[in-house]
Amino acid sequence: MIYTTHQLLIFADYLLSNQNSIISSPINGEIWKIYQLFKTYIVDNNKLHFTNINEFLEYIEQFNTLSGGCLHFTKSKYDSKDKIKSKLVWINDIGLKILQQKFNKTSNSTNTPTGQNTDQYKECTSLFEFIAKPDKTKRSLDKIDKLTIEDLTNFIQKPTTKLQLDKKRSKLNTPKLKFPEICNEKHHSTTLSTLLFKQNNNNNNNSSNSKQINLNDQYINQKLNQFKNRISTDILNCLNEKIHFLPILYNHTDLKLGDCSYLDTCHKIKTCRYLHYYTLHPTSNTTSTSSSNTNTISNTITNQESNSNANTKTTNQKSNLIEELTNLDYSLGEIFSSGFKEISQPQWINCDINQLNFSKLGKFSAIISDPAWLIHQNLPYGTFGDLELINLKINELQDEGIIFLWVTARSLDIGRQALAKWGYEIINEVIWVKLNQLKRIIVTGRTGHWLNHSKEHLLVGLKGKPNWLNLKIDLDIIISNTRETSRKPDEIYDIIDRMCGPFARKLEIFGRQHNVRPGWLTIGNQLNGINLNEPELINNLNSSTI
Ligand code: SAH
Repeated sequence: MIYTTHQLLIFADYLLSNQNSIISSPINGEIWKIYQLFKTYIVDNNKLHFTNINEFLEYIEQFNTLSGGCLHFTKSKYDSKDKIKSKLVWINDIGLKILQQKFNKTSNSTNTPTGQNTDQYKECTSLFEFIAKPDKTKRSLDKIDKLTIEDLTNFIQKPTTKLQLDKKRSKLNTPKLKFPEICNEKHHSTTLSTLLFKQNNNNNNNSSNSKQINLNDQYINQKLNQFKNRISTDILNCLNEKIHFLPILYNHTDLKLGDCSYLDTCHKIKTCRYLHYYTLHPTSNTTSTSSSNTNTISNTITNQESNSNANTKTTNQKSNLIEELTNLDYSLGEIFSSGFKEISQPQWINCDINQLNFSKLGKFSAIISDPAWLIHQNLPYGTFGDLELINLKINELQDEGIIFLWVTARSLDIGRQALAKWGYEIINEVIWVKLNQLKRIIVTGRTGHWLNHSKEHLLVGLKGKPNWLNLKIDLDIIISNTRETSRKPDEIYDIIDRMCGPFARKLEIFGRQHNVRPGWLTIGNQLNGINLNEPELINNLNSSTI
């Protein structure tokens, strides 16, 4: 039997007025007890009655579909033989209230458990009322004598409430980081450098050997604490807010030569006679201390907004959001449930990508691929042929979704061809403008024949029409520091999370150990073994050879 929304909402009223006693002793969420109690509750209701517990179970299932999973049961519920023994363990009361509020709002009447008021939930006779005609007028199932293809198409295409909520949430949750400024007072850096590095030399019988100092953050912080009293308040305050680059004077450093072009990415730092620096990041919490210590342009721009207005703005944004949420139409799909899901732990597979059977990996919302393109440079890993790449069965990995493919100047065209072959339309190209340690654009890149390469290209391909993508949040430019050879900026992960939501399944092809992260499956031949936690994936891969 299919229950009407009106009938189903009686259960929401019941749960909300009794939720604590339902879950705790002596009822303990046991279905057969709830069944008896609920029967008493609806005894006067001429619209709802059950002849046996199986009918009640059916009713609960339909209720949970309507509420988007507001009720959580012990596992046995999913075992059909044991359904009756199942226990209700958690009630999403906020979800229920919103559901109730939404329907009561349309009927403009008060809650009555008996449902005597025939006007109650008048417009909400069934889930099918959400089938909207293109002219946006609603139709209830009672008034539809025949479901047309057009009705069904409209129904399927209508974005679910979950989708709309997730889109709004991702906009609201987009972090606005303060872009750390760089200190321009030269004497700050030199004073700190003398204090932190020279002191060590004195302890080492006056021989200037910064070479032996292990310059890590812990060492520097210890030294800073030790010499706090010798540092002026001006400098201490500045340290809280701004980045400082402290010149490191090694035995072999020849100050006349000036800065090393490679700075902290110099491969010969132990013998290089040019000047190198230690980056001292601001200590105050207001500044970004992300792993890469970088910010995208979008962060810079958002920071131009007055800070004092930021809080009021967020509060306003939040109340607008709540207002908007209450005005949303419910439709099939999960409502408010993402908050209770967990983001999957990082997963990775060490493999030869040529040998991996992609059809066993399942489908992904987003893919990043950074192929080991053949370039005329010594690389610390094996490369991948252009044809090998084009022939990869990437088409098996997404039915619809987005792909990000890093290309080099030489491989731009091959990348375009590959994307077309795999079934993608190129919708954008992100560029990464590479900064050196001193936050200036790299001018002596290690690649580039005619002009030095100071940027990298990331082709963005789209397959199908994924209406779940969050659009217009980030920019197509990333400005951030270079790190190890070939390592790409971490900003791209945040951009993808904001586009696809944190719970989407995401895949990185040609990833290394530092690339693994929650929500992502990473594959490549430099990873440490295999680490998987999705049961379906483990099962699929067990039945094939990696
Ligand atoms: N995006 C990465 C860098 C990728 S470099 C980062 O941010 O660090 C390319 C990687 O592809 C290297 O680790 C290389 O060893 C790996 N690789 C090359 N050929 C491969 C193959 N046939 N199968 C799997 N991985 C391969």
